[in-house]
Amino acid sequence: MALQATTLEETYQEMADKLEGIVPDIELRYKAELVYEINKIKKERGAIILGHNYMEPALYHSVPDVVGDSLALSRKAAETDCDPIVFCGVRFMAETAKILNPDKTVLLPAKEAGCSLAASITAEDVRNLKQQFPGVPVITYINTYADVKAECDICCTSGNAAKVAESFDSDTIIFLPDEYLAANIADETDKKVIFPTLETIGNPKPGLDYQMIGWHGRCEVHEQFTVQDIENVRAQFPDVFVLAHPECSPEVVAASDYSGSTSRMIDVVRESENSRFLLMTECSMGDNITAENPDKKMVGLCSIRCPHMNQITLEDTLNALQNNERIIEVPEDIRIRAKRSLDRMLEIR
Ligand code: SF4
Repeated sequence: MALQATTLEETYQEMADKLEGIVPDIELRYKAELVYEINKIKKERGAIILGHNYMEPALYHSVPDVVGDSLALSRKAAETDCDPIVFCGVRFMAETAKILNPDKTVLLPAKEAGCSLAASITAEDVRNLKQQFPGVPVITYINTYADVKAECDICCTSGNAAKVAESFDSDTIIFLPDEYLAANIADETDKKVIFPTLETIGNPKPGLDYQMIGWHGRCEVHEQFTVQDIENVRAQFPDVFVLAHPECSPEVVAASDYSGSTSRMIDVVRESENSRFLLMTECSMGDNITAENPDKKMVGLCSIRCPHMNQITLEDTLNALQNNERIIEVPEDIRIRAKRSLDRMLEIR
């Protein structure tokens, strides 16, 4: 969360108090200068900075006014009066803020912070599915671009996916685009999931009892975690408590002690009596939790990183605020339809 410091020296000191042992002093001194400038210009411009849980520790603990997962940040984006909104996250998140705030300037501090899930499906793919399964409600994960959201009935996040799926009085739902999240939600809600292939699109198998129709999108980070990773870590640290994001495979989720959104994972670690944790998610989050809970030990599988989230730096955040870069735009006809899907999700508590 944003620092309260009003001078450069106070900024450095507040950062050192939070991040000692996590960020080396030489880097802290350099980053404190950037943080001081960002917080100063943010105040002058009446801006708000939203920061995803995957941001690197010096940024995460120093400049965002709100931190959280996609759901928490979407809610904040819907409520804020501040302008501009700087989104320290990836492009689909900044688009979400723009969809909810058409009259405000939304800035993404990286040229191209994409997402393998968002890139896995197009609006035309959704239109084809709707043609194949007419009348079946379509749920899309928030990790999609605005034109895909515009084709769907409702959005969901990993934090509310099961609730959203259960909100439909329908035996069959289309759930896009994360194959693993769909399978995990199918397990949780006692549904069965099938995946249309190139052969079955437009030519569904007769008599098949569809309940959940998925898509073959995957998160390039979470798909890499394996059950063997968990077994290796448990062999070395038998006391470890394992938390997996639901974008991991169902096998990894089943081998873990807990599965939930990034915000829920943070809460579970904070409230747990265990002292050692393995997080099956982006590695930066472990450092962010350690900074707030110095008594908890995190085991990180840090060779697996999100190349998109890691594009957001303090340097680019400062540049975004100073030069109004990079402005996110969504065509109005798409925005209106995408907002319907987001509003329906935000109504579900
Ligand atoms: S961690 Fe996965 S889902 Fe999140 S932005 Fe990176 S690629 Fe996309």
